[in-house]
Amino acid sequence: MVDDAHGTGVMGQSGRGTAEHFGIHPMDILHMGTLSKALGVSGGFIAGSKSLIDYLINTSRPFIFSTAPPPALAAAALAALNLVQSEPDRRSRLWANRTHLYAGIQAMGFQLTQTESPILPILLKEPERATQMSRALLQEGFFIPAIRPPTVPKGTSRLRITVTADHTREQIDSCLTALGRAGTTLHVIDPI
Ligand SMILES: *Cc1c(COP(=O)(O)O)cnc(C)c1O
Repeated sequence: MVDDAHGTGVMGQSGRGTAEHFGIHPMDILHMGTLSKALGVSGGFIAGSKSLIDYLINTSRPFIFSTAPPPALAAAALAALNLVQSEPDRRSRLWANRTHLYAGIQAMGFQLTQTESPILPILLKEPERATQMSRALLQEGFFIPAIRPPTVPKGTSRLRITVTADHTREQIDSCLTALGRAGTTLHVIDPI
């Protein structure tokens, strides 16, 4: 089973998600995704064989006792899926931005956890450090949340930076400057 919350619309040549990125046939997995991240709506989906879907509809109590997504949300999700398909330039811009940001963060000496997605986790280990960094960055106009236990295992608190296709090069560069400043002040990295 793939929880593809971070992959839908973003990973893979045509934005179909993590399975496409790793060349896995969609029918070989139970593919769960959300409409709330790259697609910018709300709700989610499970894709798979007809028998799998029939099974889930008939046995998943939370699903059967929940209200279906309203038509406006379904229409917005469909419009977003059409954009994923018809405007691959958005993905190219996203990956160019991601490459630039990743290189800048690495060059300053921050420790990045292993990732292949445009969500970049800077490892800070202690929750206090992650919170201090996040606060310092917010003061400079960058909303980069601190992710701490129980969301991640103890000792692996981190900042999670989400870059998008619409960020400009200037915005990314000033984010790097702010990261360098906060990281130096809080002794996360050596002075540049
Ligand atoms: C965001 C997220 C979810 C939940 O998605 P919602 O649409 O907010 O319910 C599930 N799994 C992962 C890994 C996520 O990042």
